[in-house]
Amino acid sequence: MAKVNENYLKLPGSYLFSEVGKRAAKFLRENPDAKIIRLGIGDVTRPLPQVCIDAMKRAADEMGHVETFRGYGPEQGYEFLREKIADFNYKRRGLNVSAEEIFISDGSKCDCGNIQEIFSLDSRVAVADPVYPVYLDTNVMAGRTGDLQSDGHFAGVTYLTCTAENNFSPKPPAEKVDLVYLCSPNNPTGTTLDKAALEAWVAYAKKFDAVILFDAAYAAYITEENVPRSIYEIDGARDVAIEFRSFSKTAGFTGTRCGYIVIPEGLTGTTSTGERVPLKKLWARRHTTKFNGTSYITQRGAEAIYSDEGQAQVRELISYYLENARIIRESLSAAGLTTYGGVNAPYIWLKTPEDIPSSWDFFDKLLREKHIIGTPGAGFGPCGEGYLRLTSFNSRENTIEACERLKTF
Ligand code: PLP
Repeated sequence: MAKVNENYLKLPGSYLFSEVGKRAAKFLRENPDAKIIRLGIGDVTRPLPQVCIDAMKRAADEMGHVETFRGYGPEQGYEFLREKIADFNYKRRGLNVSAEEIFISDGSKCDCGNIQEIFSLDSRVAVADPVYPVYLDTNVMAGRTGDLQSDGHFAGVTYLTCTAENNFSPKPPAEKVDLVYLCSPNNPTGTTLDKAALEAWVAYAKKFDAVILFDAAYAAYITEENVPRSIYEIDGARDVAIEFRSFSKTAGFTGTRCGYIVIPEGLTGTTSTGERVPLKKLWARRHTTKFNGTSYITQRGAEAIYSDEGQAQVRELISYYLENARIIRESLSAAGLTTYGGVNAPYIWLKTPEDIPSSWDFFDKLLREKHIIGTPGAGFGPCGEGYLRLTSFNSRENTIEACERLKTF
């Protein structure tokens, strides 16, 4: 008999988005004429930059000729893309990351979810609360946690409380953990970690021989000069941190799929006998065994953003969403509501008004009275209770209309 991995049974069903969908569908059945505006979804809505389309068309043509046809590519990713990433995102910002330390993938979700495989099952994991669920759920699946408890936390995990009081900036815990997931700019709170916060984490990781898993999927949204775009802006981070990046929100690749991971040469973990092993070597082994590369066409499309024209088009795309975010933030403030984030991120973390008991109640009220869909903060962890996540991934027209409706909230 094939026994199942019972760790999966510890996870609740994908309650959050299915429940959001169910409530929206019920409302629409009862109010078929309602014009619902969806500000809940974390997916881009604007088309791909023209440079990416052109590059992918050229690459598709190459695939149609025997002289330029390509089969399996290098699992680590084509050098043309890795070199551009290293140059544009790191060297030009004075950071020491080489093309050999970059692994191209089909998106950050897989990288953030798969990275835990190269670490021991008895590693202690720290995650923020609220959190992008992938970090936690993949560790539950692997068996690195106990059961879900009545407080909404899994046993055996160190939760890093993120509230308005600490500016949603997780603080290093007193105890030792082995793996720490950090996300800046953050999903769901839309806030960022400043240099001092990251320095504290690098110091912590050095002290406890921990590894920081730094998710910078939204780095391209950072507008404020003093906010670190990469963990490697912090001295010593190369010794303790892995970084994740994605073309999804940077260049509209959520459906096209491309991301990458940076594992510095000198970054190591230990065996049970204390021998130090380069993490890059383990990831390379995993990647070449379980992944056969992102398509050539996609990698050419991704490469295209690293030209003057490409950079301009990507900036325009991001500015569009950030302008939506500004409109949402300012309209909500004008309506007397408290918001966080939305300056260096496409997400706005909206405080539930005092007289509304829970984030689900607030969700229902917005749906019923304003025909607007957000994402209840409680779905991202117990500390998300009392908040609602709104996104700027919508048309300008819908964003403005949603804000008009919210003004009278
Ligand atoms: N990391 C964070 C924080 C995200 O919000 C997302 C997507 O929403 C991802 C990673 C995954 O992005 P992708 O798999 O599209 O590259």
